[in-house]
Formats: sequence, structure tokens, C-alpha cells
Amino acid sequence: MSDEQEGYAAEPAPRHTPAPCPEGPHGAEHVDWDALRAKAIELMERAYAPYSNFPVGVAGIVDDGRVVAGCNVENAAYGVGLCAECGMVSELHATGGGKLIAVSCVGADGQPLMPCGRCRQLLWENGGPSCLLMTPEGVLPMSEVLPQAFGPDNLDLVRDHPA
Ligand SMILES: [Zn+2]
Repeated sequence: MSDEQEGYAAEPAPRHTPAPCPEGPHGAEHVDWDALRAKAIELMERAYAPYSNFPVGVAGIVDDGRVVAGCNVENAAYGVGLCAECGMVSELHATGGGKLIAVSCVGADGQPLMPCGRCRQLLWENGGPSCLLMTPEGVLPMSEVLPQAFGPDNLDLVRDHPA
């Protein structure tokens, strides 16, 4: 590797370290929803949505206290557009993994916006039933946002009890 390329050497992502106590400063009951929504609005303003003119931003708190975020990214080939949650989940894993404990998603007006069906599945995979979501009707756990969800447990069931 030449000297010029050295700056591009990827540092391995730090190993994920959950907060030592779930009731600690990063517990869901300590979520600063205003700050989380402000982050989501910041990302919404960076959205690339020239076709729908429907910018979306999302921000989430990870169980180690990190904040990850994303914006929607559209494409001239409409079907390959990415929801904001896709970017957020990618940042989650790219920066060390972990579990989402609280998520705020906003539209152009900065108000809470419900994630689409696919993204509820993304949030379920990366946050589980107790992950909290700010909705137009207030804060709800994912178990109410995606009831009777399909998830990793379903696969374990088949693995443990093959037909
Ligand atoms: Zn979506």
C-alpha cells in the first residue's frame, strides 16, 4: 500500500459493547425524544428524494448509547429507492452492531412518520419487540407497531424442531 492510500485503510469497527445496565443512562425511559427527533429532521433535510419530493429522516439510539441515522435515497429506477431506515440499519452494523432501543422517524414537516411495512420488519430484526418508536399516537413498542411479527425466533423454531 502506498503512502497516499494509507488514509483509506479501514479501521475495524469497534466491538459492540452494550451499556452495562439496561436501566442505566441509555435505558429506554431516559430517551431524549426531542433530541432524537432533531437528529431525524437533520437527516430528513439531507434526503435524496427528487422524484417523490417526500423526504424522510430517521434516527435511533443503540443499546450502547450510540445514535445512528439515515435518510431516504431515491433512484431514477424507482423500484430501487432506499427507505431512510435502510441507511440507519446499515450505519448500525457498520459502526459496531447492537440493538436499537428507540427510533424516531419524520417526514418533511418534521412530525412523526410511521415506517412502511418493510421497514417495520427492519426495525423488528434490529430492535426486537421492546424497541420504542415515536408514532403520531405517541411512543409505542415494536410489539404494537408490528403485532404477531415474523422474526429470528421463527427460524430458530424450525432449526430446533425440523419437520
Ligand atoms: Zn420503508
